[in-house]
Amino acid sequence: MQRFFAARSILGNAVKTRMRCFSSLSSSLLFDDTQLQFKESVSKFAQDVIAPHAERIDKTNSFPKDVNLWKKMGEFNLHGITAPEEYGGLGLGYLYHCIAMEELSRASGSVALSYGAHSNLCINQLLISGDHIGALAMSEPNAGSDVVSMKCKADKVDGGYIINGNKMWCTNGPSAETLIVYAKTDTKAGSKGITAFIIEKGMAGFVRAGVYVLMSGLDLERLVLAAGPLGIMQACLDTVLPYIRQREQFGRPIGELQFIQGKVADMYTALQSSRDCDNGNIDPKDCAGTILCAAERATQVALQAIQCLGGNGYINEYATGRLLRDAKLYEIGAGTSEIRRIVIGRGLFKEP
Ligand SMILES: Cc1cc2nc3c(=O)[nH]c(=O)nc-3n(C[C@H](O)[C@H](O)[C@H](O)COP(=O)(O)OP(=O)(O)OC[C@H]3O[C@@H](n4cnc5c(N)ncnc54)[C@H](O)[C@@H]3O)c2cc1C
Repeated sequence: MQRFFAARSILGNAVKTRMRCFSSLSSSLLFDDTQLQFKESVSKFAQDVIAPHAERIDKTNSFPKDVNLWKKMGEFNLHGITAPEEYGGLGLGYLYHCIAMEELSRASGSVALSYGAHSNLCINQLLISGDHIGALAMSEPNAGSDVVSMKCKADKVDGGYIINGNKMWCTNGPSAETLIVYAKTDTKAGSKGITAFIIEKGMAGFVRAGVYVLMSGLDLERLVLAAGPLGIMQACLDTVLPYIRQREQFGRPIGELQFIQGKVADMYTALQSSRDCDNGNIDPKDCAGTILCAAERATQVALQAIQCLGGNGYINEYATGRLLRDAKLYEIGAGTSEIRRIVIGRGLFKEP
């Protein structure tokens, strides 16, 4: 915790005034004072350091080389929020990780997804400083929802393993120095024959019991990534609210029209009620339910954001189209909405 406050002071103390103007929504009923302070601090960092590059990153599909965002996030201690302090982390829980994920997603959905893949999917304890980028390679061209059917194979040889196979959809894949790669070490053992390998440039290592690591990791992945759609919904409101105050039709701001007020009311309600269900529980069906609910609402909120801006919402002059794409991803990545419903339904069916 001390490290976070140290990082905070590096960026100065101008947080409060700006954020009070910037955020029209209150989180004060959901968080205590320390959590609110953390949220405001990450928000300022994200708006100052990440948001100015969001459009360029979306257009070029690459991290800007001139701004070392990754390292800056490391200096701000964002990579090791849940890692113990003795390993250089902040020693905080998953609620703080979710708060950071929300604020980063508010600034840029794609940077936040990269951050989520690095700090959550990939073992965050290894990658706290931001010197290295991490990735997780699980999906394959023919193994998406049915990921256990993966074909990637690891054969034991003298001094280690040789891994052969094709991986796909690996967030941070092109730039990662450290990868968690899942492969079959026993093709006859089904899900029990999967091993998680930690592969780093210049270093080899492996973790056994891959399917356990894979499935337990998916619960936490869903929990932390559920905060992504929250940030995107907040970004939709950040775009829409100033617009409807300024845009005039029929001689008055469109925000005075009841239809538009109804839309922003629905958007706000979707955001706030999703925050309530993002409550830090680590139960497979609750993790699946949290991201299912937040992701589907985020897509609807992004569609409403486009509608509120009319023609301007449809073209790429405003962020709304990007926000819709960023929101829709959360219905697909980390297991699709359909798979999440199966996880929840199966859990409920099994419970006494
Ligand atoms: C931008 C992005 C980033 C990603 N990052 C990573 C990453 O870092 N690491 C990684 O390993 N993977 C990653 N993924 C992969 C992601 O996890 C898969 O896309 C996801 O699991 C779905 O697999 P699929 O795309 O092959 O779809 P499919 O599994 O082919 O599914 C197609 C459709 O069929 C439905 N379906 C499939 N099975 C069932 C069923 N049993 N019942 C009902 N409906 C079903 C699905 O819900 C979906 O609607 C990423 C994907 C994207 C788009």
